[in-house]
Amino acid sequence: MGLEEKLPNGILLASVEKLVNWTRKSSLWPATFGLACCAIEMMTTGGPRYDLARFGMEVFRASPRQADLMIVAGRVTNKMAPVLRQIYDQMPEPRWVLAMGVCASSGGMFNNYAVVQGVDHVVPVDMYLPGCPPRPEMLIDAILKIHAKIMDEPLGANRAALLAESGRTTDLI
Ligand code: SF4
Repeated sequence: MGLEEKLPNGILLASVEKLVNWTRKSSLWPATFGLACCAIEMMTTGGPRYDLARFGMEVFRASPRQADLMIVAGRVTNKMAPVLRQIYDQMPEPRWVLAMGVCASSGGMFNNYAVVQGVDHVVPVDMYLPGCPPRPEMLIDAILKIHAKIMDEPLGANRAALLAESGRTTDLI
């Protein structure tokens, strides 16, 4: 007989890793950060019709130090890139980045000298969301995919190794 069958009903078994990841994904707080037209759809997603509060994340934080999700909503200009990087650097680990829309993901139709051709030239991106602009349902879908990704992330040294594979470092063990 396995351990779970010996335990009385109502006792839940989980690994520490799953528990920590569950708390992380259940309280993602995005940074208040909109760059262009995609930000309008992001703001709509945060409104009552789409009810982001269902996922524990209706609180968009004005301070990057209180945020752990950066939604890059719109095109990133070369002038804005250092600011975006500074905001990312001020966010505490663990943190995740979602590139919302074709402009943030690849520069989109703005193939010119002024626009960064993909925000992954500036910060590491965890999820790319296509569309111009993506609808709120698409943004919620991308957020749920980040949730799934968080649930699969290892902790401690294994997480550091995973991040190192994509050229990232972490001070969180
Ligand atoms: Fe605007 Fe479309 Fe670019 Fe989003 S993807 S910032 S909606 S032009």
